[in-house]
Amino acid sequence: MNEQEIRIAELQHQLSASKELVQQVLKEQQLAAKLLIRRDLSLSRANEQLMALDVAKSEFISIAAHQLRTPLSAIKWILYMLINNEFNNNEEREQFTEKAAQSTDRMIDLVNDLLEVDHIQLGKDQFIFVPLSVSNLIKAIISELQTIITKRKINMVINLDSCPEISGDETKLRELFQNLIENALKYTPVEGTVRITSSSSDGFLKIEVADSGIGIPEDQKYHIFSKFFRAANAMKVETVGSGLGLFIAKEVTERHGGKIWFESTVGQGSVFHVQLPLNPDKKFV
Ligand code: ADP
Repeated sequence: MNEQEIRIAELQHQLSASKELVQQVLKEQQLAAKLLIRRDLSLSRANEQLMALDVAKSEFISIAAHQLRTPLSAIKWILYMLINNEFNNNEEREQFTEKAAQSTDRMIDLVNDLLEVDHIQLGKDQFIFVPLSVSNLIKAIISELQTIITKRKINMVINLDSCPEISGDETKLRELFQNLIENALKYTPVEGTVRITSSSSDGFLKIEVADSGIGIPEDQKYHIFSKFFRAANAMKVETVGSGLGLFIAKEVTERHGGKIWFESTVGQGSVFHVQLPLNPDKKFV
């Protein structure tokens, strides 16, 4: 090899080393670009989630404010009539004052439901699990609702013989069953039937709350556990309602490791099923 050939060989060697280096740098650049794209995607996903949360929050506030405005306006109107002495007689005054008191109760119920939803959603609520009898809980709820049961001449059929103790949060479960029983009474015409039955198997307690009421329209069943949702037929028969009860009922059931579902036929009635593990360690997956 002469000197020139040696120089050419050296240059070729340097060239192929440089090529390898360039390829290596290109590979690293591609990897960095991929990482950047992935980071960008996850940032825009987080951003979308934040925006959706923001929309949900302002929807929540707007619906809540809207629902509070109706009873508030009624109270304001009655108070002004009282101040201006505009009632024709004592009986009329009493009637309207009673209405104002009922509107106040509605607002308190609504605010409590809103706080409950907020607590449950943010996981602020501490569930305290203790051994308890769902049968006693349901019997206590029914006795508190006796006035409305008598007034609406509802035929109550209760069979809670097979109801073993479970481990659960008493306040939350009371709220759950109160919602279901109040709904059954609310959406069942006068002289209808409400049936509450318990059974247990395979480590689970099952409670059924059935009614002979208005039922839930097929095309609205999908939304029934959503926040603020009220079916059109329900709004017609009962103007008062927040549409939060079943949302809370579902959250409470699931926090106990249970399941809630329903069957319903318009004009024939609905059955709500709640299945709860006797021991909260045993959960549905
Ligand atoms: P609310 O009763 O305050 O409207 P809920 O969250 O308890 O709110 O119920 C949501 C909706 O589900 C009701 O508005 C109604 O349309 C429907 N629903 C619940 N329970 C029954 C029932 N037993 N029979 C018919 N419809 C029901």
